[in-house]
Formats: sequence, C-alpha cells, structure tokens
Amino acid sequence: MRLVLATNNKGKVKELKEMLAELPIEISSLEDYPELGEIEENGTTFEENALIKARAVAQHTGLPAMADDSGLEVDFLNGAPGVYSARFAGEPKSDEANNAKLLRELAGVPEENRSARFRCVIALVHPDGREYTAHGTCEGRITFEPSGSGGFGYDPLFYVAEFDKTFAQLDSTSKNTISHRGRALKDAIKILKNML
Ligand code: IMP
Repeated sequence: MRLVLATNNKGKVKELKEMLAELPIEISSLEDYPELGEIEENGTTFEENALIKARAVAQHTGLPAMADDSGLEVDFLNGAPGVYSARFAGEPKSDEANNAKLLRELAGVPEENRSARFRCVIALVHPDGREYTAHGTCEGRITFEPSGSGGFGYDPLFYVAEFDKTFAQLDSTSKNTISHRGRALKDAIKILKNML
C-alpha cells in the first residue's frame, strides 16, 4: 500500500514519516513527483488548502494522498500570519525572515498578550473520490527571542508551558506528542486505517 505525502517540505516529511511509522504502508512525497511542480494554495482556510493539495496529488498519481496545511495564529495580530505563515515576510519564503518579522510586529507587547497557537488540518483524498479532514491545535506563546535549534519554521519562537521549552528545544518525539500536526495526525491515522 502506498500513500503520497503532498509536500516538499523536508521538515514535514521527516515528522510525518516518523509518526506514520506504525502503519504498514510505503510512503512517498512530492520529491518523487518533480513533474507536478508547485501546487497553488489559493484557499483562504487551512482546510481548503489541505484539500486542494491532496486532490491534486491523488489525481496526478492515482494513489491515496495526504496533505497538511498548517500555520501560526497570533492573537495580538488577530490570527495572522495564519494561512500566510510560510510567506509572512514575502518571497522568497524564509524561516529567518518570518521569525524576524514576527518579533518586530510584537515588539513591546508584554508576555500576557503574546498568546498564539499552531493549527493543522490534514486532508486525505483517495483517487476514488473519498475525502476526509482531521484537525489539531497546540496552544503556546511567542517568546522575545529565538531559542533552540531543532524543528523548523517558527519553532524557535513558540513556547509551550507544558514542557517549559520552545518547540525548537524539544526532541522530535516530545514535539510530535503535543504538536498541532501530531494531534491532527492521530485522527488522520484512524481515518487512514479505514480508508486503505
Ligand atoms: P504550509 O507548508 O503551507 O502548511 O505552511 C506552514 C507554515 O507554517 C510553515 O512554513 C511554517 O512557517 C509554519 N509552521 C507550520 N507548522 C509548523 C511547526 O510545527 N513549527 C514551526 N512552524 C510551523
């Protein structure tokens, strides 16, 4: 059995593969289908974008596809960067530039107003037309400076009280147990078991 992960993001592929290791499936990703190119994510919600990507990949490959769309919602910024998380600081997309912009926009904002959450929607699309979505969130707050070297994206700025650490200071197993993606994936795995 094969499942195609509809992402090019190496950080995500690594995390998703680790979390799907319990399933008897072969996993490939968009790296194995370079001809597909970049899929335009023009939805206005995480759910729409996840479905757009999974549909495109299932159609192109004729295999079940899984896509995740995720991002950071900062309360002080009314939910930004949200679906624009990857390109918050513009093109070309850069984690460093995004993190620098986030710190600039929160300059002078006290700790109690720096609440934020990561949100993730995972879409599963079978080439026979079946479509499912699974959702997960993780609450935290934005730190005043980056800490830690693990993970990717906004991880060095995302503090979780439960571990008293940023996502970038957690080992991947700990991050996966509480992360938005880990939580959405728990549901997605149940759906996958039925779907495949
Ligand atoms: P996507 O690839 O369209 O889902 O964009 C997600 C963007 O949100 C990434 O490029 C990161 O900037 C951010 N993001 C999503 N999940 C995480 C995470 O677990 N840690 C850090 N940043 C994340």
